[in-house]
Amino acid sequence: MKPLNDAGNLAWAQRDLRHLWHPCTQMKDHERFPPVPVRRGQGVWLEDFEGHRFIDAISSWWVNLFGHAHPQINAALREQMETLEHVILAGFTHAPAVELAERLARITPAGLNRCFFADNGSSAIEVALKMSFHYWQNRGQGQKTRFITLENSYHGETLGALAVGNVELYKDTYAPLLMPTLTAPSPDSWHRAEGESAEAFALRRLEDMRALLEAHAHETAAVIVEPLVQCAGNMRMYHPAYLTGLRQLCDRHEVHLIADEIAVGFGRTGSLFACEQAGISPDFLCLSKGLTGGYLPLSAVLTTDMVYEAFYDDYTRLTAFLHSHSYTGNPLACRAALATLDLFEQQPVLETNRELARHMARLAAPLAEHPHVAEVRQQGMILAVELVADKARRLHHDWRERRGLRIHRKALEMGVLLRPLGPVAYVMPPYVITPEELEQVFAALTAGIEAYVE
Ligand SMILES: *Cc1c(COP(=O)(O)O)cnc(C)c1O
Repeated sequence: MKPLNDAGNLAWAQRDLRHLWHPCTQMKDHERFPPVPVRRGQGVWLEDFEGHRFIDAISSWWVNLFGHAHPQINAALREQMETLEHVILAGFTHAPAVELAERLARITPAGLNRCFFADNGSSAIEVALKMSFHYWQNRGQGQKTRFITLENSYHGETLGALAVGNVELYKDTYAPLLMPTLTAPSPDSWHRAEGESAEAFALRRLEDMRALLEAHAHETAAVIVEPLVQCAGNMRMYHPAYLTGLRQLCDRHEVHLIADEIAVGFGRTGSLFACEQAGISPDFLCLSKGLTGGYLPLSAVLTTDMVYEAFYDDYTRLTAFLHSHSYTGNPLACRAALATLDLFEQQPVLETNRELARHMARLAAPLAEHPHVAEVRQQGMILAVELVADKARRLHHDWRERRGLRIHRKALEMGVLLRPLGPVAYVMPPYVITPEELEQVFAALTAGIEAYVE
């Protein structure tokens, strides 16, 4: 195999570094590792300018569901492009937005009848926070202004979303700019006591939430959680009993429940939506990432008729939700989402994923015995491996050693795109991956782990 970043790639990398500032990146790192220019994508495969091919084992930051350049989504977009590329959604409407709102209302958990569009995940979080707060204002409960979040949660990078998140690496620098929130201990099973079940631990942590709500419900608008998997928080997972109990607590204390399914929605956790595994409906459901199959930025906040009606009045009463984004409900993005939902209807996606998930579990099983693997955990199509320096005491390596980069580099050499989160390597592939391709992914992961602990 030819070395990475030979001439054809380097030309693009050099032009890139003259003007581009990349997301979530210390740009100085690119002195050593130039960005990999991708010429095309096809199915699970990405190809660079030298003809090297990589399996996109992280679904391009968790957005891609059915592979790159999917023929059906492509065709739908081509047709939409020739008809209507964009139109203002205030005072006007269009078929893709109407159809998508109808279908989302139908497939999401019961009671979520109202759909508000935005154009990325963080914006959806801002919408849900503002709507919840504003609902209580409109209902004459202006003292309900605070939000309860979970330790280790992540909800995006805009200031409101950052404020309700708890990943220090992203948040601490901006702390002076952020609204204060109340933080409940996480039900994350990693923290359970030896011999304790994930469920028992989740219920124990629910007691902390109960105490927080008993003390603060009167001043709290909503609790916001990522159902089942805290993805950006190192793929930590928890038992659905927490969500079932949390729904009851929120009802009892008259506090909204916001479910951020931006990462876990659309089948990642095994069910279409993670909330289904707890048998609950939130008051607000935030969707993005996989919503368009990974094609275009779009997000949606689903909520109840009860919330909607609190805003519905004569204009002069000034109760309307006067929030907008220029590209709200973009027809191309909505059409990509509709084509994605068609694929869920036409194919037994969740059943196929169950098979793939079992295959992932089999391939990962030997890793659990590794002296530097503290845990292999899985929720549907998300599988994560937590790496430690000391297995008995669960101590991580010094983060300054940046060992995760070794996994990234090693996997690229072996034709796989992996991008560990701190000490956690994970696989979250597009649903069109084959068992053979999964074998290549886990071979790269295993080799990467050896490089990590070396
Ligand atoms: C990615 C993500 C967001 C933010 O979405 P963006 O489109 O990146 O702004 C919010 N919440 C969760 C759980 C996410 O994974």
